[in-house]
Parts: sequence; C-alpha cells; structure tokens
Amino acid sequence: MITDTKSLEIFISELIQTNPMIGLIGGMSWESTVEYYRIMNELVKERLGGWHSAEILLYSVDFDEIVRLQREEEWDRLGEILGDIAVKLENAGAKAVLICTNTMHKVADDVQSRIKVPLINIIDVTADALKRDGVKTAGLLGTKFTMEDGFYQERMKKHGIEIIIPESEEDRNAVHSIIFDELCLGIFRDESKERLERIVEELKQRGAEGIILGCTELPLLLRSDGSLYDTTKIHAEAAVKFLLGKI
Ligand code: GLU
Repeated sequence: MITDTKSLEIFISELIQTNPMIGLIGGMSWESTVEYYRIMNELVKERLGGWHSAEILLYSVDFDEIVRLQREEEWDRLGEILGDIAVKLENAGAKAVLICTNTMHKVADDVQSRIKVPLINIIDVTADALKRDGVKTAGLLGTKFTMEDGFYQERMKKHGIEIIIPESEEDRNAVHSIIFDELCLGIFRDESKERLERIVEELKQRGAEGIILGCTELPLLLRSDGSLYDTTKIHAEAAVKFLLGKI
C-alpha cells in the first residue's frame, strides 16, 4: 500500500520503467489519429495474441488552433507547442514520440531537440519503405506545406530519393483543399477520389515509381496498393516495431 509521497514517486518510476510506452502527438486531424490507434492495437494483437494491446500515451491537440498558426506561417510557435507536448509525453514515460502528421514534420528537428527519447520521423520510415522496394523517384501528395516548402524533399534526398510533386498549382491546391476541407472534417467524396487518382496517374507518367500518400488522412480516401505508400500505416508500424523491440 502506498502511504507517502516518496513511495508514490517510486511506484510511478517503476511503472514507467516496466511499461515502455509510445507517445503520440495527435489530433491533426483526429480523423487520422484514430487510424494510428487502430493500426497499432491491431498489430500488437497480431504479434502477441490474446488480449495484448499497444501501450500508448496520446496527447490530442485542438486542431483549429494548429490550422490557424499554419496559415499564419507561425512555424516557430508550432515547434514550441509540439515541443512542449513532446516533453510532457517524455515525462509521463514515453520511450519514443510520434508526430501523427506529415505537415508538422516541418518542425520535427525542433521538437526532437527538446526531448531525449527518439522522435520516430515519418519521412525517414517512409524512405526506408521506398528503399526496400528499390524506389528512387517518388511522387508526393500532401498539403501545400508538405509538397511545396522543401523539408520533405530535403530529408528524402538524404536517403537518396528524389521527389516529384503535381505539376500544376491547380492540382496542388485541389489536393490541399481535399485534405483540409474534406478529409480532416470527415467528408469523403467520390469526385475527390477520382481527382486524386488522376493526379496519381500524372505523377506516374512523369516518372514516379511509387506515390507517397504524404498526408495521414489521404489513406482514408485512397487505399494503398503496391505503388501507393500509406504514411499513416508505415509510421504506426514503425512505432509498434519500436514498442515490441523494447518489451
Ligand atoms: N494530417 C495531415 C498531414 O499528414 C495534414 C494536417 C496537418 O496540417 O497536420 O500532413
């Protein structure tokens, strides 16, 4: 029985040591965070059987505030906000942290610099999947920040992967709008799916050997096949690999 503060502290530190947990920074949007939660639990169940499930610490943000700061290009402030959350997750016992969105990996290095545990980077684990399949040139679909700001291209280049994005601004605007005005709000339209499929074809014709669904909501509309890389699934799988490796 715990009767004093000291024993409670020891109990908490033992709990943290014996239960390696993964910290998720989610809610960007919650529509895709639900997928992380589902995929991670399904994988742990598949690997360990019985009633096993994933030990997860989830900090889910109010996305409206994040979207406003993205539009105002307040990336330093966003790095601070996600960094503070990552610290909270680390202090609560997370042995690794995930940012459950591609876009916010624009501030991933800033977030990593604030914590000691590893940040499992969605771009790195996606690059690993592409490399395993021998893909050297990949098409990228995501928000305009992800497609146009250069951070994704730069990190992929370090892995030896060249990125191409939809050629016309009209197409890039369409992908961005499908993400924010539909998928992040739980709206799924056949005509948007067809538009994305046409854009995927255009990227393939321009030489893309694989297509990165570089937005964690896109797999809600486009199911991954041999040539579509589902970053939500790849990221969640990497988290489970880390988690089970530590058990
Ligand atoms: N979840 C999306 C992504 O993977 C977009 C939402 C956001 O801006 O974070 O990029």
